[in-house]
Amino acid sequence: MHRRIIAPGALAAASLLLAIPASAASFSPGAPGIGDPYYPAYGNGGYDVSHYDLRLTYQPATDRLEGTATLLARTTQDLSRFDLDFLLDVGEVRVNGAKAAFTTSGEHELQITPRTPLDKGASLTVVVRYSGVPSSKQAYGFTSWHRTADGGVAANEPEAAWWWFPGNDHPLDKATFDVSVQVPDGTRAVSNGTLRSTTRPRPGWTRYNWRSAKPQATYLATLAVGRFDLTTGTSDSGIPVVNAYSQDLGDNAGAARASVERTGEIADWLSGYFGPYPFDALGGYVPNTDTGYALETQTRPYYSPRQFANGSNVSVVVHELAHQWYGDSVSVAGWKDIWINEGFARYAQWLWSEHEGEGTARELADYVYASHPADDAFWTVRPGDPGPENQFDTAVYDRGALAIQALRDAIGDQAFFAVLKGWPREHAYGNATVADFQKYAERVAGKPLAALFDTWLFQPSKPAASASAARAASVAEAPAAPTVRPKSWQKIAATNDVHGHGHGHGHEHAG
Ligand SMILES: [Zn+2]
Repeated sequence: MHRRIIAPGALAAASLLLAIPASAASFSPGAPGIGDPYYPAYGNGGYDVSHYDLRLTYQPATDRLEGTATLLARTTQDLSRFDLDFLLDVGEVRVNGAKAAFTTSGEHELQITPRTPLDKGASLTVVVRYSGVPSSKQAYGFTSWHRTADGGVAANEPEAAWWWFPGNDHPLDKATFDVSVQVPDGTRAVSNGTLRSTTRPRPGWTRYNWRSAKPQATYLATLAVGRFDLTTGTSDSGIPVVNAYSQDLGDNAGAARASVERTGEIADWLSGYFGPYPFDALGGYVPNTDTGYALETQTRPYYSPRQFANGSNVSVVVHELAHQWYGDSVSVAGWKDIWINEGFARYAQWLWSEHEGEGTARELADYVYASHPADDAFWTVRPGDPGPENQFDTAVYDRGALAIQALRDAIGDQAFFAVLKGWPREHAYGNATVADFQKYAERVAGKPLAALFDTWLFQPSKPAASASAARAASVAEAPAAPTVRPKSWQKIAATNDVHGHGHGHGHEHAG
């Protein structure tokens, strides 16, 4: 052993060199997007939100929303600056109690520079005071805020949050929510989860305090204000149900209630296939919007009145509730994984059709396969990676469900239903990819499925044989695949949860 002798001056210089890069040079801005190739500016880098506390006041007469958002987060890098996704007008931002500088950039970025840089792994409290008229704001030429005769509604996919709260707007960053909204008497505020309390902060106003106690993606958070009637109940499995109906649904009111009031029954029926319902609240709401779509907003789906224009529509309730397992509890890791949401929600409608005696899943698969000839553009959409322009194309739904039927044919009912039920447990409250699903199905079925997934989800062409034809080939004397239209078909096709954003293209996405 020998000792090195270091001159005092050299030691001081060395520690100075070490100190500088560690404390200043490594801090850098968080990325303006979370890294989703479909939507590069969505979400943000550098931090992870665990909780949103939104304390809002909304005046329906003027569509003015004001409030304070408090975000609890943790940094994921040494951070000099970070973004939130937001469109309304910001008055003040505080980071860990101190006023922070802020500016806007891009279509929907709020850029925040804390007074002092933040170490990686530090806890972060961001308070944003804001106000604005959501209906006056657009990004990429569209809005996700639906102004109604007596209020407004925030519901869209993949983006709805920018119009009513600042956040990290991507399913990869899920968080719990408290949404507290003060509205004038005569109107009510509806959001996700459980209505914990109502209070009377001042004469003529009521505050509604909603809580989502399980992690929730930002696009699944919803706000609706208007003249709503509430109904309450409890499912047989013990989950409290709160439904809300605009008083302004015209002659769709009866059919809307006759459908959405079956929420508890449908959720219990779905749990037979998907396992226990993953949340502590159930419901649905039907505002007086003029959009055509429905959306799986967590615990309380959004249904436009038009969904009920032809009478009761339980199928759309089945679709949106199926998403509570496939899409909400288990979220996509990136928007290219949308098949995990829409293929399974569509397949749930097929199972319901079978349950109702209106056509089996097999018959619906055969009908979809037969009704699209090989040169139909339907087959050029690849449900496993459809591209942002086709994210909500009807093929993601119908071809997506066909792929699920093909999987069922390939692995048999026992393994198939084990996969259906096991997957939501495997990734509960998390995120997953199509590749994760394939691996999981292979593990449960005990066989490789790469060729099957490639054929049904990733090839831009009609598979050579339908699932039923493949089955018929293996079963002697099996009849030819029937191509009669199952009774439920019209209903299922008409109840697509059409999404209305279109990024300025002006079209509505089917499905
Ligand atoms: Zn859907």
